[in-house]
Amino acid sequence: MPIQLLPENLIDQIAAGEVVERPASVVKELLENALDAGSRRVEIVTAGGGKSLLRISDDGCGIPVSELPLAIRRHCTSKMSGGLEAIDTLGFRGEALPSIGSVARLTLRSRARGTDGAHEIRVDNGVQDGPRPAPLSAGTMVEVRDLFHCVPARLKFLKSDRAESAAITETVKRIAIAFPAVRFELAGEDRTETVLAAGSPEARIAQIVGAEFIDNAVELDALREGVRLTGWAGLPTYHRGNAQHQYAYVNGRPVRDKMILSAIRGAYVDFVPRDRYPVCVLFFDVDPRDVDVNVHPAKADVRFRDPALVRGLIVGAIRQALGGMSLRASTEGAD
Ligand code: ADP
Ligand code: MG
Repeated sequence: MPIQLLPENLIDQIAAGEVVERPASVVKELLENALDAGSRRVEIVTAGGGKSLLRISDDGCGIPVSELPLAIRRHCTSKMSGGLEAIDTLGFRGEALPSIGSVARLTLRSRARGTDGAHEIRVDNGVQDGPRPAPLSAGTMVEVRDLFHCVPARLKFLKSDRAESAAITETVKRIAIAFPAVRFELAGEDRTETVLAAGSPEARIAQIVGAEFIDNAVELDALREGVRLTGWAGLPTYHRGNAQHQYAYVNGRPVRDKMILSAIRGAYVDFVPRDRYPVCVLFFDVDPRDVDVNVHPAKADVRFRDPALVRGLIVGAIRQALGGMSLRASTEGAD
């Protein structure tokens, strides 16, 4: 067969393979969109572990009807104004909606702020329908039905409804830690309802990591060559059986980074048993030019321009905070 350009829908499905691995990855992408839109309230409804239904509604800026067809087109984004060097949003690839639309039945309904009515556009297996008027009082609602109905191989690798449901909850909680001023509601026939009321950063961490965590943690605030680290590091006595409770964020984006995990281990190596994991929540504020978020389509990996600097910052900040604490404790004891 001669070389030919693949049909658009097939290109989207190939891209979807990397962006949309399971229902929780759809939720992650749609939450990112809601948060980038400046929402203060986000509601997530799931059914059948997110395989049969995911519905995410927000009260953000909305999408003008003229832009709805672009929103579901690959490489179309409203977020790339300053190039890859200056990304200050969670999204930037213009891939999520077209990817989801290529592997599920997608409805995108939106009402742009300051406009009269809402409109919706649908995509099923890559085929577009609309836009047409639809009822919605504000913001955006995205509904995803029958995820992977046209990709049986992917469907087969999904876990039970219960496990996929749990992965969705975990995804919502992980991102919610970085957005304490936003209210999140997670509901559905396949779960018990979770409501994360808007509040302070401490209150949000208490809701998710546990109320006793803040009482068993020291606050971090350190700056090294333009990289700022804030957050909480658990006391060496407050540890868990796995690294699930180590949360790291770079400019508000949840990340899983081997260097960060290994630096945490390094900071606690003398205090925590080898098979135990300290609990911590680390927020890094970095100039977007000093960190590359364009490593993988799922955007959970980052590359710091100077990883050694960040490693030193983590180990230094945690040790100093824990050291200060034990010093305080021993002085108090001496009185
Ligand atoms: P990206 O987020 O990388 O730009 P997406 O495919 O996720 O790509 O979304 C495409 C575009 O659709 C976004 O750039 C944004 O303009 C618009 N959009 C998507 N979801 C929302 C939402 N919930 N509220 C407002 N605009 C949205
Ligand atoms: Mg997006």
